[in-house]
Amino acid sequence: MVVITLQRDKCIGCNYCVEMNPVHFQMSKKDGKSVLIHSQNAKGFFTLKSPNRAIVESCELAAKACPVKIITVKEI
Ligand code: SF4
Repeated sequence: MVVITLQRDKCIGCNYCVEMNPVHFQMSKKDGKSVLIHSQNAKGFFTLKSPNRAIVESCELAAKACPVKIITVKEI
């Protein structure tokens, strides 16, 4: 299982994660912050769990590109 998290309230809206991985991230037109697509919110931490390990690489690219380091990718 792959677990991706986004600590959304700290997003500065730079768009890098979307450039690296537009399949899983998009910018909100409402508040200009990143949205982790299909994620669940738990106290500001948006989490997406997927059995598809093929998404790790593209999600890690987004995590590495994020200047405020609020995206994490874990394999469990
Ligand atoms: S790279 Fe980080 S700071 Fe930039 S939009 Fe994505 S989550 Fe927000």
